[in-house]
Amino acid sequence: MQVTPTHGGNTAHGVDAKRPETVPGIDGSTTRPERGSLKNLQTTLANPIHCQGIALHSGVTVDLALSPAPANTGIRFQRSDIAGSPSFPALYSHIVDTRLSTVVACEADPNLRVATIEHLMAALNACEIDNVLIAVSGPELPVLDGASDAFMFLIRCAGRNTLETPRQVIEILRNVRVEGENGAFAELRPAQRGLSLAISLSFAAQAIGNQRYAMQLDEQRFAEEVAFCRTFVNRQDIEYLQSIGLARGGSLENAVVVDGENILNPAGLKIEREFARHKLLDAIGDLYCAGHRMQAGFIGHKSGHTLNNKLLRTVFSDAANWRFIPTTSPRTLTKTLRARVAA
Ligand SMILES: [Zn+2]
Repeated sequence: MQVTPTHGGNTAHGVDAKRPETVPGIDGSTTRPERGSLKNLQTTLANPIHCQGIALHSGVTVDLALSPAPANTGIRFQRSDIAGSPSFPALYSHIVDTRLSTVVACEADPNLRVATIEHLMAALNACEIDNVLIAVSGPELPVLDGASDAFMFLIRCAGRNTLETPRQVIEILRNVRVEGENGAFAELRPAQRGLSLAISLSFAAQAIGNQRYAMQLDEQRFAEEVAFCRTFVNRQDIEYLQSIGLARGGSLENAVVVDGENILNPAGLKIEREFARHKLLDAIGDLYCAGHRMQAGFIGHKSGHTLNNKLLRTVFSDAANWRFIPTTSPRTLTKTLRARVAA
């Protein structure tokens, strides 16, 4: 894996390097610590940062650059290998393919697309980054560790800046459920705070079987419980994908390969229920394509990118399903910002 995050002209720790205890938190030294209602303000990266890595399907090396962006930009992608490429939003309505990964495209030019965005989107969601420009030199993000840990490390190295614009959070107002084949479903329900998720899955391969994982999303829990949990694939499926020219960048370093009751990775799993935890990671990324953080409960059973996207499209097809939570009042915001200046 070729990953060397850099920012400010300096090389940061390699993602492969053993992580020191002193890895900067998301609020690095360039950023004021957040206090109280500053959580209600939008954020972006404190510094630009970039890395290189192998794309999962094409197997080519791509450059990935994350840059700070102003308030209300949202998460936007840009193809740096195509001259004059406009940026386009990572929105559920711009998702054009969900079969192997979540693929976003530019509405005005569908040839401008970026695949496998979900693991980066999950890291951005968990790290509470509202605004960022993501430039990638090919049609697919680097797979890196097959999870969100490497992306999270990049984001933490870049640091987070709080902006002076209130964040808008989506509140789910009533149960919305979509169903797929063989009993699969995905559902969003009203919740009192934040985003909680529960995933269950059922696979014929005995190495996976039936698994369930549930978690309330916060940065710390994400880092400790799911960020490092890798994507997974059946041995037969990976052989088929490679026979049609896909999964060329796949390896035992960035995916768990399952063959019946066996796991083919020599080191085995990183943690128990790694499969269910990865599915939960995927859902955290896919749900961030709502365009905002969410206050809701998510339940997924045998669900994946297709149902996750269908769920968002269904939620936003009816204005009675959701609202923006009334955010910090202008008076509270002024008070907060005064306190911040005085700090
Ligand atoms: Zn995934």
